[in-house]
Amino acid sequence: MALAHAGKTDVGRKREHNEDAFLINAKHGLFTIADGMGGHAAGEVASRIAVDVINEFIEISGDDSDITWPFEFDDGASMEENRIFTAIKLANMKIFEVIQERKELEGMGTTLVTLLINGDSAFIGHVGDSRAYRVREGELEQLTSDHSWVNEQMKLGVLTKAEAANHPFRNVVTRALGGRDPIKADLTCEKMQAGDVILLCSDGLNSMLSDEQICETFVSVGDDLEAGCQALIDAANAAGGDDNISVVLARYEADPA
Ligand code: CA
Repeated sequence: MALAHAGKTDVGRKREHNEDAFLINAKHGLFTIADGMGGHAAGEVASRIAVDVINEFIEISGDDSDITWPFEFDDGASMEENRIFTAIKLANMKIFEVIQERKELEGMGTTLVTLLINGDSAFIGHVGDSRAYRVREGELEQLTSDHSWVNEQMKLGVLTKAEAANHPFRNVVTRALGGRDPIKADLTCEKMQAGDVILLCSDGLNSMLSDEQICETFVSVGDDLEAGCQALIDAANAAGGDDNISVVLARYEADPA
């Protein structure tokens, strides 16, 4: 599988801690960003648990197809979809368990976006307002729909995109990992074309930059994905850097010969 990739996270200009975490596991075609929340550094704990638990399960389930599935296998879904749903459920449970053991972490949680690439198929799971976009031939398209209060109001026609971007509740997510209840992730599958780039980000990027600015910034850098991550982070910081900023880029180079 010919993939080029890069990832970077930055504390931004206003926060003291970076509560985002990202993880790239190229061998397994796995790319994840988590954006933690909760006081006293708890957000950092939640986002780190999420990316680590997901990585561990994707590795185990990729290396050994005879594993015992911790939850019922959904025969109506593909292997990759089952792996992602299960990994996210496990991460949710682990965060909740840690909260039970360490009361000072009560209230911690995290959003999550995870990309699993197998051949020319890109499986994307998400919970909360961390996003996945695709850049194809210079055009940016958002692939995920935020689990956020403002996005729900936009879908109902109550808020416009411009109103949502400036709304005092714009940071309120309606789904996050770390609760007692089973988590429901959204999952989408996209067929990749050679040259497609999947861009994952925490809301510290897209709350500072419009989709047009994200696209322009990324495209202006050219093929260097490390430079692309840095340019996007620099642009978000130049626009204020109100939040932690994480960017992961994965480019599908070509169909395997
Ligand atoms: Ca954030």
